[in-house]
Amino acid sequence: TGIVVALDGPSGSGKSSTSRGVATRLGFRYLDTGAMFRAITLGMLKAGVDVHDADAVAAHAGVTQIVSGTDPSNPTIHVDGEDASVAIRGEDVVAAVSPVAAVPAVRTRLLELQREIIGAGDIVVEGRDIGSVVAPDADVKLYLTADPAARAARRALEEGGSDVAATEASLLARDRIDSTRTTAPLTMADGAVHIDTTFFTLDEVIDQVLELVEA
Ligand code: C5P
Repeated sequence: TGIVVALDGPSGSGKSSTSRGVATRLGFRYLDTGAMFRAITLGMLKAGVDVHDADAVAAHAGVTQIVSGTDPSNPTIHVDGEDASVAIRGEDVVAAVSPVAAVPAVRTRLLELQREIIGAGDIVVEGRDIGSVVAPDADVKLYLTADPAARAARRALEEGGSDVAATEASLLARDRIDSTRTTAPLTMADGAVHIDTTFFTLDEVIDQVLELVEA
């Protein structure tokens, strides 16, 4: 198998931009596992599944077809044959994704897809449980964090100027669910290098990661 770089951390920690930048510089593929959880959530919402009913979510875990693109310059995701790259960023999906991701049957389903993609060669993978569960043997593991205010400001900017305070509240609510769930909670994996990105520019963080990969 190829070289695997695992990047974990909470929302808005700089994972996506860093992962894409690192993959581009190295000529590696890129996998956004958060997009996969968002995609399965979108499928549930479309099917009218009550996302707070864990049994209903589990029963639907195998239904939605998900295809992840791995080009870091153009990350795409298809849900049941349709391009869902924009739809997975919607507020409805953001509000529903953490409870869906806490259901073990959902994680098992996506783990299978993730391992298949990772097994195909060099790749940078971002998520919450990549270094701990999905790819514990990754060649390089990073754990990115940033101050909540900085994370909210970045995310609000990405979203084209949403309210920073509301964005921060939504980020913290997801963090709480993601770090306290019983299956694969967000945690710093054994052997991971922690980078606090609050006071670094994107290019500085990318350079730090590249140094670790090239070491
Ligand atoms: O990274 P992103 O914000 O797109 O992730 C959306 C949600 O998907 C997270 O809040 C988390 O609930 C879930 N997720 C996860 N495990 C991953 C990636 C994402 O549980 N590896």
